[in-house]
Amino acid sequence: MKPCVTAKKMYPSREIAEDALIEARTQFEYKANQGPIDVYMCEDCGYYHLTSQGKMNDKLATQLKDGKIKLQKEANQWMNKIKKR
Ligand SMILES: [Zn+2]
Repeated sequence: MKPCVTAKKMYPSREIAEDALIEARTQFEYKANQGPIDVYMCEDCGYYHLTSQGKMNDKLATQLKDGKIKLQKEANQWMNKIKKR
């Protein structure tokens, strides 16, 4: 896989990119209106990238609404605490 001109991380499919998007949202603390919110197919490399622009991804929006992102984030924070010991 040749690196993309955008220098963004490349994902081979929309599904994998969406999983990475959701994972990113559970791993990092983003301020409102910041951080990646959707995935798109890149015209330069033909793979998928994450983007912070545009409308929020439906899958992510649903998980945020259901509180799944928050739960997973809390779980990750616990895991990190355990790992640090
Ligand atoms: Zn690209």
